[in-house]
Amino acid sequence: MTPGRRKTVPVPRLIFEKSREGRMGCNAPVADTPEVDLKAAMGSLRAELHLPEVGELEVVRHFTNLSHVNYGIDTGFYPLGSCSMKYNPRVNERTASHPGFARLHPMQPPATIPGALEILAGVQDMLCAITGFDHITLQPLAGAHGEMACLMLIKAYHDSRGEGGKRKVVLVPDSAHGTNPASAARCGYSVRSVPTDPDGNTDLAALREALDDTVAALMLTNPSTLGLFEANIVEVCRMVHEAGGQVFCDGANMNAMVGMTRPADHGFDCMHLNLHKTFSTPHGGGGPGCGAIGLQKHLEAFVPTPVVRRRADGSVELDAHRPLSIGRVSAYYGQFLMEVRAYTYLRAFGREKMADIARHAVLNANYVMERLRAVLPPAYDRPCMHECVLTAEPIKKETGLRALDISKRLIDYGFHPPTNYFPLIVHEAIMIEPTETETKETLDAFCDAMIAICAEARSNPELLRNAPTTQIVGRLDETAAVKNLDVRWRPPARHAVEA
Ligand SMILES: *Cc1c(COP(=O)(O)O)cnc(C)c1O
Repeated sequence: MTPGRRKTVPVPRLIFEKSREGRMGCNAPVADTPEVDLKAAMGSLRAELHLPEVGELEVVRHFTNLSHVNYGIDTGFYPLGSCSMKYNPRVNERTASHPGFARLHPMQPPATIPGALEILAGVQDMLCAITGFDHITLQPLAGAHGEMACLMLIKAYHDSRGEGGKRKVVLVPDSAHGTNPASAARCGYSVRSVPTDPDGNTDLAALREALDDTVAALMLTNPSTLGLFEANIVEVCRMVHEAGGQVFCDGANMNAMVGMTRPADHGFDCMHLNLHKTFSTPHGGGGPGCGAIGLQKHLEAFVPTPVVRRRADGSVELDAHRPLSIGRVSAYYGQFLMEVRAYTYLRAFGREKMADIARHAVLNANYVMERLRAVLPPAYDRPCMHECVLTAEPIKKETGLRALDISKRLIDYGFHPPTNYFPLIVHEAIMIEPTETETKETLDAFCDAMIAICAEARSNPELLRNAPTTQIVGRLDETAAVKNLDVRWRPPARHAVEA
């Protein structure tokens, strides 16, 4: 590949722009009822809707071509840190599209869906075994939703002990994912930040200082968003418990621990898991996700209902009789077909092979970290877990170029950029999560590209400044896109005048 060559990429036109009056994509069957003049019947509605009028071939080409300008895990390496963009095995899709699952109606009486209930209970059982928790619920629809559900449980727990009134603070490390303080605020807590020590662990002295009887909980990500295993995790949990607080584990990325170690054994009271990250259900593009939560026995009285529960004889029932429950956190049973996919993935690996996921994820991340160390040093120099956080600070000092410029240039080399500028405490952060599903050849090609780009930063900095040059668009004004969001197509003025 010769990156940097400006490829002419045709700008895709919108389906509306391809519209020509009178073109049709389907043939209606011969009517056995009196004919109606649709145009007249719809009147001005049709003009107002501005529905595109296109033939079937145009529709097929339009969407097929659009799919070719997309970038996804099925088309290329996707090293986006903290996202676990692992391959979604096709066997998952096969089971999820089984009519016995796909065509169930959410309002069906539970007695008619023993297979679906078995899937739910099966995923719960397997996640209990993996995390060590006493109870799992699959209702939350995303990681952030799982965080919120856990904080609601913690709140109900403190309330039940008459301490809800005074415990108004949630502690969140300064490396945390933005959803953590957001979830705490959403549940009415005020947030107190806990700093990270020079080794990348929670600063124990600062934690001790922050702990008092107003603290409801500590939200801790392990491995942290620095890609590091919290070395003092048992001590951290002990300290929080001693102060009467609860410890929540942000387990969005369980990839380094699955089959190796269980968060419940570290002392956590509850956690969330992202099935759409660790357990291979598709994500990117906004869902649907599943933020399953696990909890210890003392929180079980408060779990969302209905509880999917295994009876003594192994059969599964729905239990709605939980007087202390926080109530439902989603409609029906959560994202049922995501559970089918996760179930398939879990069963495909089984207990014995589960640890291979973690071993390979950790090996791949450390391999990338070591290969890139000379050009992009690790932010904290110690073995990483499922992802590594590097810094482009030396390159910035030398050339003025930033992590963003490196990432934009990477697009010209055909790779999706890694996460930039997160965690916030690392200057010029580049966070790479290769996941376990990539080959050494792919990792080498990626590292070669990163090394070549870092050389270009010194020899030909304009290449980075102008990147990407191989795409339909170059540098976007990302702030404007957020501040003036406009995703609605409007007809050209000519149509507006006619209407
Ligand atoms: C992805 C992620 C979340 C949020 O998960 P969503 O499903 O996007 O809501 C929370 N914490 C960490 C560490 C994450 O990586």
